[in-house]
Amino acid sequence: MTHQGLFDLSGKTALITGASRGIGFAIADALSAAGAQVVLNGRSVEALNTAADQLRELGRQVDTASFDVTDAASIKQAIDKVEEKGPIDILVNNAGIQRRKPLEDFDDNDWRELMSTNLDSVYLVSKAVARHMIARKHGKIINIGSVQCELARPGIAPYTASKGAVKNLTKGMCADWAQYGLQINAIGPGYFETPLNKALYEDPVFDEWLKKRTPARRWGKLEDLHGAAVFLASPASNFVNGQTLYVDGGILSVI
Ligand code: NDP
Repeated sequence: MTHQGLFDLSGKTALITGASRGIGFAIADALSAAGAQVVLNGRSVEALNTAADQLRELGRQVDTASFDVTDAASIKQAIDKVEEKGPIDILVNNAGIQRRKPLEDFDDNDWRELMSTNLDSVYLVSKAVARHMIARKHGKIINIGSVQCELARPGIAPYTASKGAVKNLTKGMCADWAQYGLQINAIGPGYFETPLNKALYEDPVFDEWLKKRTPARRWGKLEDLHGAAVFLASPASNFVNGQTLYVDGGILSVI
């Protein structure tokens, strides 16, 4: 048996939400390096153009699609526009936000904003894209969870609730869509230094605690996510479905 092409994404198009920076950008970097044409999403057009130029300088095929992942009408319009240019083979639901406050003081509007960005978006964008994938009988969907799919921490109960739901929505999508040739899996990153975690990596007490708590004794580097993303986007994972693959330096395995 030849393994040629197992991780090859040439000729595929991947839409990555929240790809102007951080984890989404790293995944766009990985998938485009493996041959995919990537479509970067985010709300800020300026940030998207800067990110797209960075990848184009590396010779990658890049397009952008600015829309708000919480807005069903904009999503449908944007997905139809991308699909007019060519089929979306891979969808990465990465856009997400964090809000920190003890639960008893949590603002109701922050709860709704967080749930709608981290969870509703996965439902809305996936549904809009899966309709096309189901008709074609193939497609890969990768949802970005977190170690908070499994673990809580003080001050981020709503985020934990949203990521637990993303993990189970991944299973639900598998239940409904695997029969149509789609693979739907999730990646659960540990702790990475991105703008979302600024409050944590700028706090020396947290930094020291995290390095002790993580068996690998370090923060994640964005390149650490490349392999999992390419695996779950490529033919190498064609019989892997409904799983969450943790890329966390061992946090979830060791107490
Ligand atoms: P960042 O804050 O660095 O990036 C978030 C991205 O999402 C930006 O491109 C932002 O662009 C976009 N975005 C936010 N809201 C929306 C929206 N409503 N519509 C479209 N795009 C949006 O976050 P990270 O890279 O750290 O996080 C990415 C994902 O990874 C999230 O789901 C997060 O929960 C998860 N994660 C992160 C970890 C970490 O250690 N950093 C650990 C585990 C999981 P714009 O503002 O222009 O819209």
